Amino acid sequence: MITSRLAVFHAAGRPLTLESTPVPPLQTGEILVRTEYTTLCRSDLNTFSGKRTEPVPTILGHEMVGRIAGLAPGAPPTDCRGAALRVGDRVTWAIYAADPASPLARLGLPQKAAGLFKYGHETIRPGSTLHGGLAEYCILRRHTPVIRIDAPVPLPLLALINCSVATVAGSLRLAGPVAGRTVIIAGAGMLGVVACAMCRCAGAKTIIALDIAADRLATATQFGADHTFHPGSGFAALPQELATRWPGEPVAVALDYSGVPETMEALLGLLGIGGTAVFIGATFPQRSLQINAEQLIRKVHTIKGLHNYNESDFVAAVEFMERNYARFPFATLVHEEFDLASVNAAFAHALASRAYRVGVRIC
Ligand SMILES: [Zn+2]
Repeated sequence: MITSRLAVFHAAGRPLTLESTPVPPLQTGEILVRTEYTTLCRSDLNTFSGKRTEPVPTILGHEMVGRIAGLAPGAPPTDCRGAALRVGDRVTWAIYAADPASPLARLGLPQKAAGLFKYGHETIRPGSTLHGGLAEYCILRRHTPVIRIDAPVPLPLLALINCSVATVAGSLRLAGPVAGRTVIIAGAGMLGVVACAMCRCAGAKTIIALDIAADRLATATQFGADHTFHPGSGFAALPQELATRWPGEPVAVALDYSGVPETMEALLGLLGIGGTAVFIGATFPQRSLQINAEQLIRKVHTIKGLHNYNESDFVAAVEFMERNYARFPFATLVHEEFDLASVNAAFAHALASRAYRVGVRIC
């Protein structure tokens, strides 16, 4: 019988408890993974600090990577790209397991399908445990998109794929082609800087990053932003600045990772004719936006929203990191590293610092 250590989250404001549980027998189609590395996502921090609520007890952590430790009968013989899956292979997997035959999955929205299973967001209950990143083992449920990783991408960077990088890949899918076009990216946190890098690699002509933090804007520049803008004194100056610096260059795509209503409203005002705005950051309760329908119509704008991502986004995220992990300073985004026994110190550090990510080396 294998046992797994795990860090259990019971309530906001309470330390995680380090516990141990037997690894249950695998069910048909499941894959047992020995987790190697987990990064603490903003949503983990928000749950830990009480800004968002999750059913408890739970195992936090969903940006993670590990190696296959067991394959149940009926487990997929190959990954999303057709590569064989064997014990010992390093794999990353999507944040969700969803029945591909369900109506929303068939529409390309598996992350919203009925009966969704979401790693790092499930309660521990009889018959269902080991579903989060802060544990030695994770059981991949049936219908989890899995990808074998052979490229020598460092573990902290691989951990970023299945939340941050895949979500950004999804937002670029919705935005449409960016090659040769001007893109504005609001919010230069983890998603925003990954978006700068992804737009750069996709051939964007001009990338403009907006944030209220100067150090984050400096990071955005390292990840491919051509120009940065601090909207602290309002957005009023930005249209003129854009018109002066890039005359005749309309903003084709606006990506909002900030979740700030004033910012999203300003982005709509900056979009050129035929432009597309994608909102990704506003995953918390907030006021309604003020949108001028006449402007929307006359400028033929499109506004889209995205929460999480689908399998094609996940594959795109893996392939982006495999190709570009050394092109940008991704390693500098995972500032500190803790072990599982020090997980409470990891959360304390992540909340006290302005780190893009804090890493937890599991084994
Ligand atoms: Zn996340």
